[in-house]
Amino acid sequence: MKCKRCQIPAVVALPSHHTAFCKDCFLVFARRLVERAIKEHAMFTFDDRILVAISGGKDSLALSWQLKDLGYNIEGLHIDLGIPESSPIARAYAERFCTVSEIPLHVIETAKLGLAMCDVKRRVKRPICSVCGQTKRYLFNKFAQENGFTVLATGHNLDDETSRLFANVMRWDVEFLSDQGPVMHAEKGFAKKVKPLFRLTEFETANLCFLAGIDYGYAPCPYSSKASFPIYKNLLADLEDIQPGRKIRFYDGFLKDGRQGFAPRGETSVDIQPCTTCGYPTSAGECGYCRLTALMNDEG
Ligand code: SF4
Ligand code: ZN
Repeated sequence: MKCKRCQIPAVVALPSHHTAFCKDCFLVFARRLVERAIKEHAMFTFDDRILVAISGGKDSLALSWQLKDLGYNIEGLHIDLGIPESSPIARAYAERFCTVSEIPLHVIETAKLGLAMCDVKRRVKRPICSVCGQTKRYLFNKFAQENGFTVLATGHNLDDETSRLFANVMRWDVEFLSDQGPVMHAEKGFAKKVKPLFRLTEFETANLCFLAGIDYGYAPCPYSSKASFPIYKNLLADLEDIQPGRKIRFYDGFLKDGRQGFAPRGETSVDIQPCTTCGYPTSAGECGYCRLTALMNDEG
């Protein structure tokens, strides 16, 4: 198997793109997919201050590496979730990578806010991933707003996006379908959010890390079996095996022809107002984060 661009032996085969690349050409290929995503969706410019959500996993490290390599003005934010089995490992990867790459890294420890996820899991009845996701979204948004960042970038890849889309379609969740996409514009107290890796599969971001020499590890969250998206990811992976390219066509088709059929957020019944306690946006009187904090403090 030869590299499609330069004809030397290839190291990565990409059936969905009907191609294969050597190390250098794969890195060019990945960079172009990210540049295309940024440009096509007007995600940000070199004037923006970009806050990257850095979990310590391969996607957030690949994203940070690529944006830094392209010359964007980035800083990282890591949220230490206080899960003994996985958080210290994830944090160590994030800190080591940012030190080596000379990317400023901010860390928020949820334990210091009374919200260590191991404690939250014991005390809250709701599914832990729902509470954890809500907490992370709140803290990223708040940090971006309070520290003058113009855009918040996350490492969601094509597999994340298509599995979420698949799940939303299976539920016909009109509100989420109207909102889903690689860009969410700033509005009503929400920072602008972008997903520059949305054209790369998980396999491709793993290869990007490996071939770019990024030291990434795997610290599986002990609660991850409770997450529902992996089920949809596995179904789509089976489909992709049979029909290479299906995932990107599913997602591109949705952005081009499907999404417009669903009402934009402003036309749905959800009314976004400032939280009565913290002032950040919510569809309830008091936001979920403030209610969680109050509950944990009451019981703590
Ligand atoms: Fe949080 Fe669930 Fe992810 Fe664990 S798997 S980090 S609990 S969202
Ligand atoms: Zn609040």
